Amino acid sequence: MRKIFLYCWLLSWASCLFAQQYDLVIEGGRVIDPERKLDAVRNVGIEDGRIARISKAPLKGRRVVVAAGLVVAPGFIDLHQHGQDQTSQRVKAFDGVTTALEMEIGAPDVTPFLKSKEGHSLIHYGTTASHLAARALVFGTPLPDGTILPKSGPATDEPASTEQIEKIQQRLREQLDAGALGIGMGIQYAPGATRLEVIDMFRVAAERKLPVYTHMRSAGRVEPGSAIEALEEVIGASAITGAPLHIVHINSTCLRDSLECLSLIEGARAHGLDVTTEAYPYIAGMTAINSALFNPGWREKLGIDYGNLVLPDTGEHLSKERFDELHNSNKQQWVLVFANTQETVDQLIPNPLIMIASDGAEGHPRNAGTYSRVLAQYVREKKSLTLMEALRKMTLMPAQMLERSTPAAKKKGRVQEGADADLVLFDAQSIADRSTFEKPMETSVGVRYLLVGGTVLIDDGKMVSDVYPGKAIVGPESGGRGR
Ligand SMILES: [Zn+2]
Repeated sequence: MRKIFLYCWLLSWASCLFAQQYDLVIEGGRVIDPERKLDAVRNVGIEDGRIARISKAPLKGRRVVVAAGLVVAPGFIDLHQHGQDQTSQRVKAFDGVTTALEMEIGAPDVTPFLKSKEGHSLIHYGTTASHLAARALVFGTPLPDGTILPKSGPATDEPASTEQIEKIQQRLREQLDAGALGIGMGIQYAPGATRLEVIDMFRVAAERKLPVYTHMRSAGRVEPGSAIEALEEVIGASAITGAPLHIVHINSTCLRDSLECLSLIEGARAHGLDVTTEAYPYIAGMTAINSALFNPGWREKLGIDYGNLVLPDTGEHLSKERFDELHNSNKQQWVLVFANTQETVDQLIPNPLIMIASDGAEGHPRNAGTYSRVLAQYVREKKSLTLMEALRKMTLMPAQMLERSTPAAKKKGRVQEGADADLVLFDAQSIADRSTFEKPMETSVGVRYLLVGGTVLIDDGKMVSDVYPGKAIVGPESGGRGR
């Protein structure tokens, strides 16, 4: 009996020793965790895709990454990413992003979206349920494959009947059942949607206690139909229904009135409403030229002219004739929209209410450069943001937003024991974007290592081939698929 006891004691002592050997140890990096405000040199032990240990004492690992001189931060979480293929995921990874979600508009059909990416994704992915796609389907003109925005026409410009609204709601409920993280509403792309239709969609989100992400009904200053009015509409719908509200790209909707829009959001929050927002650090937007965003009146609304529209592939500035041709075409063509000022963008990015989100897709430099650009321009050059605050906007804030959709988000956006090992290791002195309007897919520099769920995706500055560690992030109705 005593022998057995001694044997067991020896065995547990030995296993205790071996347990200290982690899958991977990140040694001596400057660990920054925006939730606990930790900014200190630490060793990080990773086991089974999770952060198992954060310690001042040395740790043993089967692999050790020497991180002296590098920042060790949570991987960036992009709530607003349209380019969901591997080409875009690759440039996102070099920009420090470990999770990129299609939340503004939403994938047209959640089940095939999630299925197509399973085992083929470099970084984590997920989507909202698309109001626009549901509306197009109910109007009998489903979106063509590979598109997320409908062409301007009856499905965008006409009001829906009561029966049609009920069918759209039903479709959205099915999409939520399939794992959507909320409802995406590009209201400006369906100007025929009445105020009541918008409220009825918020009601579906509220039933499930899920958020609505919205590109608001209109941009600019012209009344009626100003950005301020559009913001009142969705804040009202959120207040009426109780659905949390996230306003996407406040910079490109509110333009010169962005700070006014922020003060409206501040007021709503001060009175207990759950309203959040985001911005990207560029003066131009990009959208589909045949969409309802360019219905008559767009020049007055945005305060721009044909020449402010530029084709990303060729750099061609449009004329009226060329615009008419492309707007009336069935072919979906992206166009860059130069409508904002650097001054507005520079005022917005440091504001504490602003999360960083890219609105990325191929053709615009924000796809590849958003996060590095904020770290280079606002933290290092202008010094209008601290590194801690910039990282909060890229990690903790979006993770907290996602917690409204899934408890799995509590393990993201943090460098803490028990958190998912989604980590970016970068050089704060040299991190920078290289993508431009002429060369929008140039990868950023400065990210030395990127870990997605504990798997090394960028290793000493190079992409590891044939690893696909990205997992689905799904809503609560999907029966626990993904994580
Ligand atoms: Zn948008």
